[in-house]
Amino acid sequence: MKKLEQIYEGKAKKVFRTDDPEQFIVEYKDDATAFNGLKKGTILGKGAINNRMTNLLMQMLEKKGVPTHFVEELSDRETVVKKVTIVPLEVIIRNVSAGHFAERYGVEEGITFDEPTIEFSYKNDDLGDPLINAYHARALKLATREEIDTIVDLAFKVNEALKEFFLTVGIKLVDFKLEFGRTTDGTIILADEISPDTCRLWDKDTNEKLDKDRFRRDLGNVEGAYQEVMRRLMGEQA
Ligand code: UDP
Repeated sequence: MKKLEQIYEGKAKKVFRTDDPEQFIVEYKDDATAFNGLKKGTILGKGAINNRMTNLLMQMLEKKGVPTHFVEELSDRETVVKKVTIVPLEVIIRNVSAGHFAERYGVEEGITFDEPTIEFSYKNDDLGDPLINAYHARALKLATREEIDTIVDLAFKVNEALKEFFLTVGIKLVDFKLEFGRTTDGTIILADEISPDTCRLWDKDTNEKLDKDRFRRDLGNVEGAYQEVMRRLMGEQA
């Protein structure tokens, strides 16, 4: 697999073309941003952790019947993925109130819901990723009705699998963001990443935050929290 020219650089990852027209290579960076790019920093070792964690979780999800873009881990920071065009929706699932949900509706953080919730943001930095509903997404031709139905079903399936998996290592899955892509033949698959950058993860017993909120809110020991999640997921192997 040959890494050819860079086709995209985002906040946390770079994407490269390869000699296979159906596959890309993603490279994870240590750069971190928050509040739509207003806060910038570096989380040492984050790229390697997010790469390995995403791949571990995506392989687990594949076994549970969720199609993902994962192909092969190449190195600490690099992974071969299936080429997709990203559906410009951030799909957010919540099990417990936190972040924007708590702010928007004026409730405290930490309330466990009877059922998980789903919401979409329109992936558009200039607009600040505004909240959008399924009708608006269709009006803007971001996705078809069938695609949105598939995305909703897959997102809840991912939630059940991840919630259970994290709980076995003493972590509460509070909320998370997913992104989906279309393969060349139009199939919707899970893409992007699943990591402490994109999930709120709290220790099951102490509610200690083990995710990017440590960076967003200047809570300290950001690197340690990312390492702790990885250590728990890997068990003895980390
Ligand atoms: N999230 C993300 N990228 C974004 C916005 C949110 O990965 O651009 C994740 C975030 O880490 C959290 C969940 O989605 O786990 C819900 O985030 P929320 O809407 O509460 O916004 P936040 O307070 O994180 O900006």
